[in-house]
Amino acid sequence: MHMIADKLMQVEARLQQASHSAHRPRDAIALLAVSKTQPPARLREAYSAGQRRFGENYLQEAQDKQQALADLAIEWHFIGPIQSNKTQAIAQAFDWVHSVDRLKIARRLSEQRPPEAGPLNICLQVNIDGEATKSGASPEALPALALAVAELPNLRLRGLMAIPAPCTDPEAQRQAFARVRALKDALQAQGLALDTLSMGMSGDLEAAIAEGATLVRVGTDIFGPRMAR
Ligand SMILES: *Cc1c(COP(=O)(O)O)cnc(C)c1O
Repeated sequence: MHMIADKLMQVEARLQQASHSAHRPRDAIALLAVSKTQPPARLREAYSAGQRRFGENYLQEAQDKQQALADLAIEWHFIGPIQSNKTQAIAQAFDWVHSVDRLKIARRLSEQRPPEAGPLNICLQVNIDGEATKSGASPEALPALALAVAELPNLRLRGLMAIPAPCTDPEAQRQAFARVRALKDALQAQGLALDTLSMGMSGDLEAAIAEGATLVRVGTDIFGPRMAR
């Protein structure tokens, strides 16, 4: 009955252990529950167990859930690929967007963000392993993109998001996350005030926390296997 609450407690124990090992305070790391393909009732169950941040990848699906869960004080994060014809709805309905990887999309999100909603929190997605099929700006393109996005009036650039190539070796996982952290440090050295490293998922959150993740995005280990879409 309380399966999601139990899973959340297990993830919480991992977060405590990982932050302790990294000599970091537990509250330096936020947990984003990645709820793509999960029906609203399961998000409601997680909310009842205290979870407030939810991440969605598909706009239409997210909008259906936002309607069904309008009575809850959820912080909504968009983490999926963004087509330019979807920016208006995303700018209206989300608190955070983690998957911005080009200036055109950022400009549209800024133009379309309702001013009364306050600035939209943005992470730039970086393609840290140079995978041909994966979204994200290249490390080389990142500085110019970040400096331009930081100037957009209705966005607040918070940091970087990355999904390293799948890998089960903890040392190799850490190396990829360390490269993301170094990119953020380099941007900060250029004067950008960044406070977010969105990295780490069910299979590699310990390695991400060891390398400075401030937000981990966990789906499977909270909700179980994803349903077919
Ligand atoms: C699906 C997804 C996750 C969650 O992955 P799990 O391995 O299920 O924890 C995290 N981040 C992004 C961008 C995703 O699309």
